[in-house]
Amino acid sequence: MPSWKEKHGKIQTTKLLVVGAGGIGCELLKNLAATGFQNVHVIDLDTIDISNLNRQFLFRKEHVSSSKAEIATKVVKQFCPSINLGFDHASIFEEEFNVEFFKKFDMVLNALDNKKARNHVNRMCHAANKPLIESGSSGYFGQVQVIMRGKTECYECQEKPASQKTFPGCTIRNTPSEHIHCTVWAKHVFNQLFGEVDIDDDVSPDMEAEDTENPNETGNSQDDEAAKEPAPIGTRKWAESVNFDAAKVFDKLFFQDIQYLVKMDHLWKQRKPPTPLSFAVATTTGESLSFADAQNKDTSIWSIATCANVFAGCVRELLKEIKLNPDVTLSFDKDHPIIMAFVAACANVRAHLFSIHTKTMFEIKAMAGNIIPAIASTNAIVAGMIVTEAVKMIDGNADVKSSFIRNQPNPRGKKLSLNRLFQIFLEGAPYPPNPKCYVCSETREVFIYVNPAEMTVGALRDKVLMQELNMLQPDVMDTNTANVVLSSDGDTDSLLPKKLSEISIEDGAILTCDDFMQDMVLKLFIRRANHLRGDNFEIARSDKEKDEEEARKKEQEKHRLEEAENKEKLETDHKSEEEERRKRKVDEKESSEEPDVKRTKVEEKTGGEENENKILAME
Ligand SMILES: [Zn+2]
Repeated sequence: MPSWKEKHGKIQTTKLLVVGAGGIGCELLKNLAATGFQNVHVIDLDTIDISNLNRQFLFRKEHVSSSKAEIATKVVKQFCPSINLGFDHASIFEEEFNVEFFKKFDMVLNALDNKKARNHVNRMCHAANKPLIESGSSGYFGQVQVIMRGKTECYECQEKPASQKTFPGCTIRNTPSEHIHCTVWAKHVFNQLFGEVDIDDDVSPDMEAEDTENPNETGNSQDDEAAKEPAPIGTRKWAESVNFDAAKVFDKLFFQDIQYLVKMDHLWKQRKPPTPLSFAVATTTGESLSFADAQNKDTSIWSIATCANVFAGCVRELLKEIKLNPDVTLSFDKDHPIIMAFVAACANVRAHLFSIHTKTMFEIKAMAGNIIPAIASTNAIVAGMIVTEAVKMIDGNADVKSSFIRNQPNPRGKKLSLNRLFQIFLEGAPYPPNPKCYVCSETREVFIYVNPAEMTVGALRDKVLMQELNMLQPDVMDTNTANVVLSSDGDTDSLLPKKLSEISIEDGAILTCDDFMQDMVLKLFIRRANHLRGDNFEIARSDKEKDEEEARKKEQEKHRLEEAENKEKLETDHKSEEEERRKRKVDEKESSEEPDVKRTKVEEKTGGEENENKILAME
């Protein structure tokens, strides 16, 4: 058995790459220095934001706007001058961090906050054959995963569920029932007017949801003309046709489109219909803050008149911005004050029309940015677990574990349970590699279902290979014809607008996709799916999986319907149960003071947990 001195010697000489110097990264760098690691390099692209200071404890107020990697390095060296700690204030995707770069280290520790970068580092470690310790936290939950090529599953062996919760399109466009639906709609409105137009983000009432008994027949005035055909030429084009006149755009979104929706009788049989609101009426009802004042009051609820003012102010400002930089496409950014104010104002006006309680800009920002609060204690536990596993691996200890911080499952399955308040630490042996993984297996196959007559080569590159499969610079060859379909040096750019079928990529085609940077080659099997429109596609790891996926979706839909039916019943049951409990407690209180103290404590905790549930529900 090696002596402590020998172990310590190994720790001192091991070369570590830390990717990320944020919440987990700060804790991790401190732990590594304290454990005796002497050779560490850290990479982070970010600069320090004031909102980081509550948990990224290496940073102080005077560091705001400086590089995270640089400051973290400086501060760690202050308390551990002997450490050989290098840094790069750069993106991990840059070409200099190639496979050769990764090979210089003995082990890589991830402290990242996004899936794209995690996928990339996973592939680089696979290519360089270096062990990776992957980690993450989300509110009270956290995870550490040990990844060793050929021995354990890699980060991409199992498909990860989409991090963003999606809502049915018709709920967003026609029948919002919660504020989040209005917030999602408002983000779509922003994209339609000023950002990148996505066909899935249409904001107009869904005409297909219309009753077959044409409701327009009962229309009674010429004012309805505009309402008959919502956005026939696309929201952006329509807005351009009226020079982005804020009042007209407002009327279109909140008067004409709503008027149109109201006429779809069948939507309102069980629901309260929305009330159309014109700009003229909105701006003259009640008190209003100026555009500038409203922006500073992000924790107060804006009146509808204020929302209308903010809407108009934002439309003016955003129009200026797109005119100044016609080549730059704006995209939703919760930290862009004008964009965020626009989304907040839009979401609140829509919520108001649908009789949904309005919210503050601060609350809407959390929803729009899918923010789950980062919790310092979770990050501290995660960073501790990373170092524990790193030391075990260096020591040649085969007993490496993947660890989780979870809430204990409640045996009675009740929603309100004090158990949820505790962070429970679990660990288990890592899973073996998935033989079908397109990153770490020998198979490396992906099946893609598309309509070859509609999908373009450009979309195949951008949406399938780069966005979905996380490749950086794919080179693609059709194995049947040996034609080069995509070349990362730009030689094939003339093919980008062509449809797949135009260059003979049809059902059954097999494309070899090669990413030089990630040292990864995979086979893409093209399957025809005529029902898919435009650039839409579905992806599966095998044909069989596709069938399974469909069966699962059907099962989920059935389950969802059942749940909706049960929900009402459960709520009623829960209410009467609460009522009974309360009665019982009152009786107890009358007989003794002691239980009353307990009761107050229990309620406090339950309340806190309810809040936690709400926050997690935003995930
Ligand atoms: Zn894998």
